[in-house]
Amino acid sequence: MQIKTGIAVSPGVAIGRAFVLGAEDFRIPDGSVSVDAVESEVTRFKTALRNVDEEIKANEALTTQHLGKEYAAIFKAHRQFVNDPKLIEQIETLIREQHQSPEFAASQVLRKFAKELQHLGDKYLAERAADIFDLERSLLRHLLGEKREELSHLTVPVIVLAHNLTPSETAGLNPKYVQAFATEVGGSTSHTAILAGALEIPAIVGVGEFLTDISGGEMIIIDGNNGRLIIGPDQATQEQYQVAQERFRSKHQALQKLGSGQAITTDGTEITVCGNIEFPEEATSCTKHGADGIGLYRTEFLYLGSMRERTEDDHYQAYLKVLKTFPEATVTIRTLDVGADKIPGGMMHLYKDGSNPELGLRSIRVSLACTDLFKTQLRAILRAAVHGNIRVMFPLVSSIAEFRQAKMVYRDVCEDLEDQKIEHNPDIQVGMMVEVPSAAIMAEEFAREVDFFSIGTNDLIQYTLAADRSDPLVSKYYNASDPSVLYLVRRVLFAARDADIPVSVCGQMSSEPMFVPLLLGMGLRELSVTPQAIPVIKELIRSVSIRDCEELATKAYDLDLARDIENFLRGELIRFSPELINE
Ligand code: PEP
Ligand code: MG
Repeated sequence: MQIKTGIAVSPGVAIGRAFVLGAEDFRIPDGSVSVDAVESEVTRFKTALRNVDEEIKANEALTTQHLGKEYAAIFKAHRQFVNDPKLIEQIETLIREQHQSPEFAASQVLRKFAKELQHLGDKYLAERAADIFDLERSLLRHLLGEKREELSHLTVPVIVLAHNLTPSETAGLNPKYVQAFATEVGGSTSHTAILAGALEIPAIVGVGEFLTDISGGEMIIIDGNNGRLIIGPDQATQEQYQVAQERFRSKHQALQKLGSGQAITTDGTEITVCGNIEFPEEATSCTKHGADGIGLYRTEFLYLGSMRERTEDDHYQAYLKVLKTFPEATVTIRTLDVGADKIPGGMMHLYKDGSNPELGLRSIRVSLACTDLFKTQLRAILRAAVHGNIRVMFPLVSSIAEFRQAKMVYRDVCEDLEDQKIEHNPDIQVGMMVEVPSAAIMAEEFAREVDFFSIGTNDLIQYTLAADRSDPLVSKYYNASDPSVLYLVRRVLFAARDADIPVSVCGQMSSEPMFVPLLLGMGLRELSVTPQAIPVIKELIRSVSIRDCEELATKAYDLDLARDIENFLRGELIRFSPELINE
């Protein structure tokens, strides 16, 4: 049994079989073959091995021809491994004596060998381990051939283990079959993590290297409450987690009931708790969890996973779907936030030069660079706004000039619709996300121009602390409790209060119970959170008074270390609502 830890990003406990997504998305089928099939399986293995050898030989010849003999030398090492009698014998023995499938046996033996090389302490040999993993992939490709299974073809429940999952891959996960997932990389507020929460799949990210220990089919436990991945759990651990799973389920069910009704503090202040969505279908999950409206609709997900250009009608239909679920409540549509980790297939060509995606052409910058795209979306928003209470906001605004430019395009679109006599609502509120430090610093000036603010703490934290939100290597620097982050959030809340405009926090910070009393104490009265967090957040609000929260905030302002602030907020949360904490 091995226990690994990662970043817990979506709560819950899952116990099931591993589905490993390697670099080539192979799934290694279940381990055993029948006694009668042993000889034919050995033959199948040997044929695959021969084919791999032929393939390497062909590559060697090609490389010699184009680059010269020295470069082709690397293939010699590959061929040595393919023809290594000891390796072949070990794999054959597993097939013959333990009746393991060739895929499973080859994967086990090659990975074990690669790991031994990695741990010999010799740099050259450690690098050869990569050749072994390459070899494993080639062999699996030949063995599995047409049988290669992909994530979209799942027919039984599994736990997905991968180096990384892109946001669009995550969005495509079917919760019916994907019990949970764990990835080697990823950060707490990466879009992959956010989607796991939206899909209500227990998940952990940023576990570090673990795939070399797994072939697929092993028993796995994912503890999404505490960020634990357990490979090959013993009987006692499985039983312990079955109990934890049951406890989580019943507590979760009990909490869901708390979503309905208003969130009013003990001293009578009503707080609006809206939901964040990525797809129109999630609107129903928001109503189920008791959302007072939609505080953030990440519309770019309409584009992800598809090469096809989206039409005005595609947008329009998506917005109408949300309005059908929320005909009266506020629906806040954020215009496209493509770029960074969300690049639609059809836009890949824009990002070929390897520039830093987080600081590059992203969000409103893309919309302003591709005004046709921007106008198409704005037309759909203004048309849909006839049918409900829509407001629009622009993401990643970093200067007043940029906001004005976006507003100008917005006005152009209104005029076009007017000229074309197309029914639309030109009087919707136009706001902005505050998620770049420059915007928070200039909050007072912005407050004179915008109709509302929505604070995107996920990005605000990464840009303030120069720590990539998706990179586990810098996760210790990415800290919502950092006093600099609290300073900027407070600045925006105060600017909104002084200008008397609405302000909400839609970043993950407001989905974290620990931060809610602090945000209320700073003056926040509207939050937008992951749908499944709504009941807990509402119940927490019902257990605090604004006075307590203001006192708590004043104490937090006096602390200058993120660690102290975090410990303080955790302690206060336990004092307010111990029963809301996930075990
Ligand atoms: C944010 O940055 O906090 C935010 C809500 O936007 P996203 O997570 O989509 O970048
Ligand atoms: Mg953002």
